[in-house]
Amino acid sequence: MSKLRVTDLHKSFKKLEVLKGIDLEITEGEVVCIIGPSGSGKSTFLRCLNLLEVPTKGEIEIDDQLITDKKNDINKMRENIGMVFQQFNLFPHLTVKKNIMLAPVDLKLKTAEEAEKKAYELLDRVGLREKADVYPKKLSGGQQQRVAIARALAMEPDIMMFDEPTSALDPEMVGEVLGVMKELAAQGMTMVIVTHEIGFAREVADRVIFMDEGVIIEQGPPKEVINNPQNQRTKDFLNKVL
Ligand code: ADP
Ligand code: MG
Repeated sequence: MSKLRVTDLHKSFKKLEVLKGIDLEITEGEVVCIIGPSGSGKSTFLRCLNLLEVPTKGEIEIDDQLITDKKNDINKMRENIGMVFQQFNLFPHLTVKKNIMLAPVDLKLKTAEEAEKKAYELLDRVGLREKADVYPKKLSGGQQQRVAIARALAMEPDIMMFDEPTSALDPEMVGEVLGVMKELAAQGMTMVIVTHEIGFAREVADRVIFMDEGVIIEQGPPKEVINNPQNQRTKDFLNKVL
């Protein structure tokens, strides 16, 4: 079953064409890792999927609903997509628990009581229940990113997108964040992950996509794309990062 379908997606910033026609279909529960050189348009692509950027051309469908249709309520569509960035962007003036409760309560999707219950459940999932009443600055980077994941999950999204979620972390904290993501994948979440963690992609992804200069160069199961790339650009890239 198709969860997300992208057809001929283009995005330009003034004269700079960043995405040059991307087609992609992701099925429910699929875990897709996107790899590729810096500047190739990976973040722009994720931002388009979430309509943080408006595509210049092309269509994006989620559950067969055209989210690029101006008639549709973008905010409502966006609620179904959880997004985790390199920078955790937690609200510094709110405790961990309040960070997680904020969006569902503000959008009146949950009462404060329901949101709090859910926050504890999510903190259990990311292993941080004991940090519920702590402020973000008291947490390590890895802990903050786990809270950011919990916060995204609080909206009960259908799809989770990650843009280099471990790139800003000290090496010793990368594992704990990837561990949470791995569990999420095992629980059947549909995930799109931009990452330089090739080992993680090899282990967890159903499909790896290599992107360069605004197009998909090569895609397939990790065994193929990572262990046996066909395209010279993919080979060159993997040689640099592995
Ligand atoms: P990646 O995530 O693969 O490193 P990005 O999507 O961040 O690549 O960027 C791709 C290209 O688009 C870069 O040349 C970048 O400078 C440009 N770009 C990204 N966002 C903007 C923007 N808001 N305005 C102008 N140029 C942008
Ligand atoms: Mg990027």
